[in-house]
Amino acid sequence: MAKKTIHDLPAESIRGKRALVRVDFNVPLDEHGHVSDDTRIRAALPSIESLLDAGACVVLLSHLGRPKGKPEPKYSLQPVARRLGELLPKRSISFVETTDTDEALKATYDLKPGQVLLLENTRFLGGEEKNDERLARALAQLGDFFVNDAFGAAHRAHASTEGIARHLKPAVAGFLMEKELNYLHGALEHPERPFVAILGGSKISGKIDVIEALLPKVDGLLIGGAMACTFYKAMDLETGKSLVEPDRIDMARSLLERGGPRITLPHDATVAPSIAEGAAAKVVGREHIPAEMAMLDIGPRTSESYARAIASAKTILWNGPMGVFETPPFDKGTRAIADAMAAATGKGATTIVGGGDSAAAVEQAGLAPKMSHVSTGGGASLEFLEGKTLPGVAILDDK
Ligand code: ADP
Ligand code: MG
Repeated sequence: MAKKTIHDLPAESIRGKRALVRVDFNVPLDEHGHVSDDTRIRAALPSIESLLDAGACVVLLSHLGRPKGKPEPKYSLQPVARRLGELLPKRSISFVETTDTDEALKATYDLKPGQVLLLENTRFLGGEEKNDERLARALAQLGDFFVNDAFGAAHRAHASTEGIARHLKPAVAGFLMEKELNYLHGALEHPERPFVAILGGSKISGKIDVIEALLPKVDGLLIGGAMACTFYKAMDLETGKSLVEPDRIDMARSLLERGGPRITLPHDATVAPSIAEGAAAKVVGREHIPAEMAMLDIGPRTSESYARAIASAKTILWNGPMGVFETPPFDKGTRAIADAMAAATGKGATTIVGGGDSAAAVEQAGLAPKMSHVSTGGGASLEFLEGKTLPGVAILDDK
């Protein structure tokens, strides 16, 4: 499990060398093509700065969005280069429009220690998502050693994440990668107890493997989001127009039987005729969801009891919002969990947020700095919690 990191590289393997660093600069862009949330760029700075300070030049590889293996201007990393320049005002940042060509290779040799080169979107290359061997070899030419700091892409075996590390050694983890793995691994393997997990989001189907994997490890599993309704159905409760996955009801029933008192479902629900009709929202006990309404958030009693459970836990892992947090008033339950976790961090608990939407909710509330760790990789953290091997990590050098 333990992988080498930048710290394990001797100074002479860094000084004067080209550090090829896979980062996750898959950031949102606004309608003007500007970076609207630079969290992931900032998260990669410790690795980049440490390598530059140690006398390397840094060559950065990343994907952005989902271009189909050929250049698409709206997915260019050019705006990211600009933002990176603002974040590192004392450094020279250059950008090349091609990634696996002689031109890109030459640009890497022209770099001086302390300089940064960002290469264009790896998904503009046909072989990237196929983990094409030839592409991986070409990419491996672009540096003298490899650092993978792209936790958010580590669950994909692509040429720039996995293939490249077969051909370029040393291949080590960056600091963000190390931090992500340490927090998630720590929670799963040696959590300070009580260990409580809160799971929400829209679909139980996407989280079933996480529930299965966490169930034997946690002291309590608190359920929210629409997935609570599939459990309600398994308990023969009326769920009205709520989002239910009929083909998962049996599975939910089996989880309830196996989890026993460790699984808690919301006691009350905030319901409304539809998301658009928030004004008509009301709170009902879980036995009284009206046939013409949908559960769109956990209710206030549930928020309070979940907050109490969080307050008495030492390790808290949260994945998936409690309700339709994008649309008030259905954001209250999610906000209550975020507040309770922030308070728990202050009292010495380890708090971890994984999952794209839950992380966004925490960022929106301005509470990210009050969590022990907010994962930058939704899909990757989910797969890690499911107990799956992340190919981008597995291929890195062992300690
Ligand atoms: P994460 O990205 O944190 O893992 P998910 O992607 O699983 O979370 O789920 C997030 C989505 O779930 C949000 O868009 C939210 O609106 C939706 N959601 C949560 N609760 C409900 C609900 N009761 N009914 C419908 N959608 C819900
Ligand atoms: Mg999501």
